[in-house]
Amino acid sequence: MRKEDRLTGLDKKYLWHPFTQMKEWEESHPLIIESARGNYLFDRRGRRYLDATSSIWVNLHGHQKGAIDTAIRRQLKKVAHSTLLGLSSTPAILLANELVKIAPQGLTRVFYSDNGSTAVEVALKMAFQYWRHLGEPGRTKFISFANAYHGDTVGAVSVGGIDLFHGAYRPLLFESIKAPSAYCYRCPLGLSFPRCGIACAEEIEKILKRSPGQIAAVVVEPVVQAAAGMIMAPAGYLVRLRSLCDQYGVLLIVDEVATGFGRTGRMFACEHQGVAPDLMAIAKGLSGGYLPLAATLTTESIYRAFLGSYRDFKTFFHGHSYTGNPLCCAAALANLKIFRRERVLQKVRAKTRVMERSLRDIEKLPHTGEVRQRGLMVGIELVENKETRKPYPLEGRMGHRVCERMRDAGILLRPLGNVIVLMPPLSVTLGEIRRMVRELSKAIRDITEAGGPQRPRADRERTRRSAPGYLRVRRK
Ligand code: PMP
Repeated sequence: MRKEDRLTGLDKKYLWHPFTQMKEWEESHPLIIESARGNYLFDRRGRRYLDATSSIWVNLHGHQKGAIDTAIRRQLKKVAHSTLLGLSSTPAILLANELVKIAPQGLTRVFYSDNGSTAVEVALKMAFQYWRHLGEPGRTKFISFANAYHGDTVGAVSVGGIDLFHGAYRPLLFESIKAPSAYCYRCPLGLSFPRCGIACAEEIEKILKRSPGQIAAVVVEPVVQAAAGMIMAPAGYLVRLRSLCDQYGVLLIVDEVATGFGRTGRMFACEHQGVAPDLMAIAKGLSGGYLPLAATLTTESIYRAFLGSYRDFKTFFHGHSYTGNPLCCAAALANLKIFRRERVLQKVRAKTRVMERSLRDIEKLPHTGEVRQRGLMVGIELVENKETRKPYPLEGRMGHRVCERMRDAGILLRPLGNVIVLMPPLSVTLGEIRRMVRELSKAIRDITEAGGPQRPRADRERTRRSAPGYLRVRRK
């Protein structure tokens, strides 16, 4: 048996993949990644694939980035892991210092965890406990949004708003009051921007008005509701949210897990609107996409509310075994250095413009409903009828089929329902952007114009092997 066949067998026998219908997986030909370099992933046969999802929105500067590899190796010679419970560590301290320098104003305290969901959990628990310490224990509720996604742990799911992912767990969740999503293409209020005057924000005000003393915080993905299909809030929305929070005296939690670290063209998405939150969750790109690391940043006044003598029991009783892991922090320090040394954000701006120009052709296709872009975060919403905006039925798996076609062309994407997501590493080249969009345009045309039922897998596998984009490249 060839090694790949054996591995495929073992995968199907023992692994359970996330967000995956395993029955379908068992019948598929899984792609097994063996190595990576730059913006490409390689399978065992040396075929290369452009990592156009940044390995699920984490990778920033490409794979095997020298400066990050070296930083991890150097740290490995010192210590791989020691705890932050009762001890400290050099990389954790230095990274906190660097994060405070780049964070929105007023965020001066860094609490580590190890993934986006836990960074959000920490923010929720901090906000909740903050009000207890302040003598307002009635503030137990959160305002969150339709279409929101903040992770998969139970607290993060409680403030989520995607029925497909979150509906099944409803009986397990704590109450959070849902405000409408600022989804202008499918406005829940049937209005259109800018004439609407951001009327959806008024809905939040209504909630705040009718719940005096009950709301702990508003939780929001700033500017882009990513997992919902790259839904982009209109200009001024976040500013309005900040001022409502100030007016009604509630905390603002921003979840920059997906948007942070340059994805939208600024280090953090909040910066587009000059907004500083009370708590901010970061993860994914924090370590350059190398290792699981997250943090919740907060203000001095929230931090100070937790101070007291031990017997006051104001301690924040939360922490994970790998919190602030030194290898992860060393990778994150190298990541931030790359931003400075390589002037990454300036380059992203130029790449954003090329992406925008390249996407114009896709916008014109008969089944492209809307193209949404902020920096290098792109969502292309496919629709059955462009005029009426009628969506394709989810069971038709249009997005999935387009992405399968892209894989045949050597480009890895992952859809969100009918939305095709492009989220390449910030190190993507101008040539790669153009190629990616050109291939996507072809794939969308092929799939949407073919309509009809899906071809059997074996047939598709044959096509893949003879496709022009099927690259056989030697690994270095
Ligand atoms: N928040 C947002 C906005 C996210 O997009 C995600 C993940 N896609 C998370 C939280 C959860 O992060 P993780 O998968 O690292 O738990």
